[in-house]
Amino acid sequence: MATEIVRDVYWLNGGSSNFYLCVEGDGLTLIDTGMPRRAQLVWDLLAQLGRPSADLTRILVTHADLDHAGSAAVIQEQSGAAVYAGTLAASLLTQGKPPTHMPRLVQFMLDHFLRYRALPAATITSFADGDVLPVLGGLHVLATPGHTLDHFSFYSPTLGVLFAGDALNTRNGRLQATPPSITADPDAARRSALRLLALAPAVIACGHGKPFIGHSADDVMSLFNELRQE
Ligand SMILES: [Zn+2]
Repeated sequence: MATEIVRDVYWLNGGSSNFYLCVEGDGLTLIDTGMPRRAQLVWDLLAQLGRPSADLTRILVTHADLDHAGSAAVIQEQSGAAVYAGTLAASLLTQGKPPTHMPRLVQFMLDHFLRYRALPAATITSFADGDVLPVLGGLHVLATPGHTLDHFSFYSPTLGVLFAGDALNTRNGRLQATPPSITADPDAARRSALRLLALAPAVIACGHGKPFIGHSADDVMSLFNELRQE
């Protein structure tokens, strides 16, 4: 199921995680890919928009977790899109391996039984903090380590849309930072969340929970103040 949250930005609800499609004349950009076997959501949306799969030119990956990178290989293969990720995430993507940040038993399961399909190295380009991608009037690449050590978020100042990955979520109906139990570096996670909230984004397209839209500046400020005091 897909919902347009801002003009030309679609929320794909993959059940356990969200991903997003930015639709522009010169090419479409997918931000994250959901769990394995979520590719059909993308093809259905493209069909609805009357765009062939080859129009998907970019896949941006916030981090190499199963629920964000799980369908990347299949979607890349069918579209020929270029994949962009952080340096460490790029290396994990080529191995179909998750980063280490979960409670021990869950991590063991992920490492040994829940691998995702790997991407060919030649399809991946690394980005870094401060890069600006030609998407939505200039999409700023922001290093937001914490949930995983190589986690990135993306911000379009033109639209005021923040793609926060797992740096922020609305899992319980409330805007919050990544839960400590699944966070590699809690101090870094707090700083990353503060950095994102300081942007005062109009829309927060997060990896889990409904996108945060139509909120007041107070909603963002209250989490900002809460995290600043920790
Ligand atoms: Zn996630």
